[in-house]
Amino acid sequence: SDSFPPPEMLEQDLAEKADVVESIKIANEFQTALENGELSLHYQPIIDLTRGNVVGFEALMRWIHPEKGFISPGVFIPIAEKNGLIVQASRWALGESCRALRRIEARVGADREMYMSVNFSSTDFASENFIDHLYNIISESDVLPTQVRLEITERLLIQQPDNAKAMLQMCKDAGMGIAIDDFGTGYSSLSYLYYFPIDTLKVDQSFVRAMQRDEKSLELVKSIVGLGKNMKMSIIAEGVETVEEARLLQDMGCDKVQGYYFAKPMPEKDVIEFLRNYQPI
Ligand code: C2E
Ligand code: CA
Ligand code: CA
Ligand code: CA
Repeated sequence: SDSFPPPEMLEQDLAEKADVVESIKIANEFQTALENGELSLHYQPIIDLTRGNVVGFEALMRWIHPEKGFISPGVFIPIAEKNGLIVQASRWALGESCRALRRIEARVGADREMYMSVNFSSTDFASENFIDHLYNIISESDVLPTQVRLEITERLLIQQPDNAKAMLQMCKDAGMGIAIDDFGTGYSSLSYLYYFPIDTLKVDQSFVRAMQRDEKSLELVKSIVGLGKNMKMSIIAEGVETVEEARLLQDMGCDKVQGYYFAKPMPEKDVIEFLRNYQPI
């Protein structure tokens, strides 16, 4: 009974090793996934609460593994960020989502009216010639730079402040929008809101979810909406699942929402169907 390490510690150790082995496997298989076209994109509509219309979409990566089936981006994205494969995946996602936007526009007759919001990681920003690649992909896909929005996290701003500032400024000067994702979950210092050229804050879904049962979360969402408004930024509340949440956000003056209540992320063909049937809220 005095054995060392204690059996439960060994178990934990084994579990961790299994995780490591699994993530090495996923890392290798992700390379194959990129080459074999196992990745696809789903698009989630972003809705303007003041006018009721669809203003754009967020592109979200999907991986259907030939044997394992659906693998969550929550699992493979962090792995791809660590081993650098995300760089290639992001370029593909930007090009593909911009071309999809052009096709969607053509099908529903909404020329240049909507935007595409694409997630980028700090690995992307640290990659060689990131900005040149961005410009090239955008011009080749024939969307306007103003139709492209970059979603980044606070981590990027904290990790590489000077580099990030210079690069984001170039993106902004070219006409792209810049949104801070998962706002409120990262860092307590808000000074970076002045330092970086940011135009949109995305309120993290954990706060939206807790808003109705937890006074503190409600106050937090209100503060973020107020802060964003004072700074002339646009606010998108994420993870809106009920009409009550949507009304509450509308009353606070939150201008945009995204969530299952309006639409789940969906493949391109369903987006066209969705837009044709959409009734402004
Ligand atoms: P995120 O960027 O915060 O994306 C929002 C996540 O919330 C998505 O999960 C979306 O499907 C989900 N969601 C949207 N509305 C609701 C709702 O009403 N209720 C609930 N419960 N969930 C909702 P998903 O697609 O699983 O993506 C997870 C994360 O993976 C993303 O979080 C993002 O950090 C990352 N990710 C996904 N695609 C990409 C990509 O192309 N590039 C990068 N770098 N990261 C990506
Ligand atoms: Ca996002
Ligand atoms: Ca988010
Ligand atoms: Ca997230």
